[in-house]
Amino acid sequence: MRLEDVKDIAVIGGGIMGHGIAQTYAMGGYRVSINDVSDTLLNNALGRIRANLETFAENDFISRDEVDNTLSRIIATTDLEKAVCDADFVTEAVVEDIEVKRKLFNQLDALCPSRTIIASNSSSLLISDFASGTKRQDRVVLTHWFNPPHIVPTVEVIKGHKTSGETVDLVYALLKKVRKMPVRISKEIPGYLVNRIQLAMIREVWYLWEQGIASPEDIDLAVKGSFGFRLSSIGPLLTFDLAGEDTVYAVAKQLLPVISDSHESPLALKKMVEAGELGMKTGKGVFDYSREEWDRIVKQRDKEFLQRLKTLYWSKEQS
Ligand code: NAD
Repeated sequence: MRLEDVKDIAVIGGGIMGHGIAQTYAMGGYRVSINDVSDTLLNNALGRIRANLETFAENDFISRDEVDNTLSRIIATTDLEKAVCDADFVTEAVVEDIEVKRKLFNQLDALCPSRTIIASNSSSLLISDFASGTKRQDRVVLTHWFNPPHIVPTVEVIKGHKTSGETVDLVYALLKKVRKMPVRISKEIPGYLVNRIQLAMIREVWYLWEQGIASPEDIDLAVKGSFGFRLSSIGPLLTFDLAGEDTVYAVAKQLLPVISDSHESPLALKKMVEAGELGMKTGKGVFDYSREEWDRIVKQRDKEFLQRLKTLYWSKEQS
């Protein structure tokens, strides 16, 4: 299949990730069907997409007309067969559970046309471990998006053991076409690239918080205003070159022996999960906000992210 042959896309799971992924493909001009397990969840997904598109319009990313045009390219259905029977490309964004994904991949393999490429948005699992039952292992691939998926530019494209080069090239081109910044990961390893790096940082963040070294507010502020500030413009390896490798080496020699090397999930995090403190999902997490405050935070986050997207990538990529 060539890129120009891709017309219809299906997204399975319309939650935090699925709705934004569906929105991105619809903004790219594709007809998109979203599938989830209930009409209520699908209506939520469509409501979130409308709200996101309005934020895009308010920030001059798309015109007002494009809000309705994009929505008109999306259909929502609880019928999996209807969602995928004409799809050229399908991506799943259902719960992070290997058995759920294995079952879904087998169903998709049976329901999709033979040409269809099937992708997963798993954040930690290896596609070879749950797509091995399909008869199209050359046409399965991992496309790992980041939250909020309709804004964050990078998508990791991870090749499974049997994924063909053609599949990877086509999916890479598809993501470029919908204005993402795909990154090729040529070897399947757990966590791929970004989550391994991110988890290494999170381990130390939790350690510092548990030890009472700084308040959660100050930890967030310190990261935002230092390497967080730099990172959307220059990556960590270029940062080494700019700082000087001798300095980086001296700091690494000093600090690596003393920072956390724990192989356990943080105990405090486990306790929060057990207490139902799931952040925005339940209204209480590290920080404690009302529903209205969460909505305001997400709106403000999206506005700032969109401004950054425009300055750093969107306009450059158009020129
Ligand atoms: P979520 O819980 O918000 O959404 C999952 C959705 O899938 C739900 O609406 C659920 O009803 C639906 N679903 C479950 N089983 C289904 C099935 N068999 N058929 C159709 N729909 C089904 O989860 P999420 O955060 O969007 O995560 C989805 C996937 O994306 C996971 O694999 C996760 O690891 C990955 N991911 C999440 C993030 C993140 O920041 N949340 C980032 C990157 C990747």
